[in-house]
This record gives sequence, C-alpha cells and structure tokens, in this order.
Amino acid sequence: MRLDKYLTECGIGTRSEVKNIIKSGKIKVNDIIIKNNNIKINENKDIISYNNNILKYKAFRYYVLNKPNGVISATEDNIHRTVLDILPNFVIKKNLFPVGRLDIDTEGLLLLTNDGKFAHSLLSPKKHIEKTYEVHLKNEISKDDIYKLENGVIILNNYLTKPSKVNKLKSNKILLTIIEGKFHQVKEMLKAINNEVVYLKRIKFANLSLDKLNITTGEVIEINKEDII
Ligand code: URA
Repeated sequence: MRLDKYLTECGIGTRSEVKNIIKSGKIKVNDIIIKNNNIKINENKDIISYNNNILKYKAFRYYVLNKPNGVISATEDNIHRTVLDILPNFVIKKNLFPVGRLDIDTEGLLLLTNDGKFAHSLLSPKKHIEKTYEVHLKNEISKDDIYKLENGVIILNNYLTKPSKVNKLKSNKILLTIIEGKFHQVKEMLKAINNEVVYLKRIKFANLSLDKLNITTGEVIEINKEDII
C-alpha cells in the first residue's frame, strides 16, 4: 500500500495533510525518516511511526478524556472549544465523537470513540450502564434527601428517576451513581430536593474509573474496548 494512503487510513489526517506531514519528516518507516509519499509499504510487516509514536492500524479506537470545565461535548461548535479541539496530536480524530454528553461546566470522565454501534449500545437505557458523579452541593444534604434521591424524584416536569445510589462524603458532598442519562440529570435531581449543584465531576462510567486510569484534568489516554464493560 502507498505510504500516504496507509497514513490517511490510520486517521492522522486528510490525504493532503498527510503529504505535508511526510514532507516535514515526521514519518519513519522502520526507523528511517521517509519524505517521499509515493513509496510502498507492507502494512503487515513495516513499522510506521508518526512523531516517534508507532502507528497501529485499527478500525475502531477508544479514548478516555478527563474533561476540563469550559469545553463542550460536541465535535464542532462556532462559539466554544469542543472536546475534540483540546486533544493532543497522538489522538486520531477522524470520525471521533464523545459517547454521551457532559455539560460545559461538568468535568470528568468522557469516553470518545469512532465506533458508532458500540457507543449507541452503551447509551441504550436498557444497558443500565452505571455512571458515578462527585457532586458538591450548595446546601447540606439530609437523610431524607438521600432517601428521595435513591428511590426516585420527579425531574423535567414528569419523569420519575430510576433508583440511584448515594454515598455521603461530607455534609454538602456526595457521590451519586445513576443508571440513566436524562438531560442535566444530576442537576435536575438535586434541584428536585431543593438543593443546587455547585461542582460536578463524573468519576466513573461502566468499568472505567478516573482513579484507576490515573488521568488528570485535560489528559486523555487510549484504552481497549474490553476495558469499558
Ligand atoms: N448530569 C448533569 O446535570 N450534568 C452533566 O454534565 C452530567 C450529568
């Protein structure tokens, strides 16, 4: 296969971007810098690297971002920076999108992939994927409030939330685990018990946990599909 075609299929850029990347000397084939995009490579044998990162041809990719405050969970936007805009070079952005949404002011664990079918299945309400949020509250939370959150509150006018789990960390700080993802669900649940979220961070999604992955705010890592559920 031609080197430029291979690199395009690896997702590092469009055909014309790839030509410039090759010219700039950032591509090595078997540890030798190659500046000629016409050469043929053997994709099963040759070792191709970009900026000294070895490229692996994979149809689907999975990344975890520890989303910072101030960026939106979308692929493009005219006003705000998106989660794709803040990704470092090693991330292959072609067809990448966030699995679900975190609000602009919510931080934490966001899965990104180009695997549409798998993403769709993760978001299915039938899957009951657990998501845990660290929630800082404006007001203290009572035992009665926790009972209500765990057993269901009415949000968005008429929706009764499914059972959730609450772990009280401080008088105004909880971990809330939910198995659904209605619009602004956590903020709405706290509003339903006359409280208010002042800081929100997702710390777990399915089998993924920020603690275990050890990624700081703004950082992103590539993971395997098998690590997710
Ligand atoms: N619930 C919210 O209210 N906001 C988020 O970003 C995620 C869950």
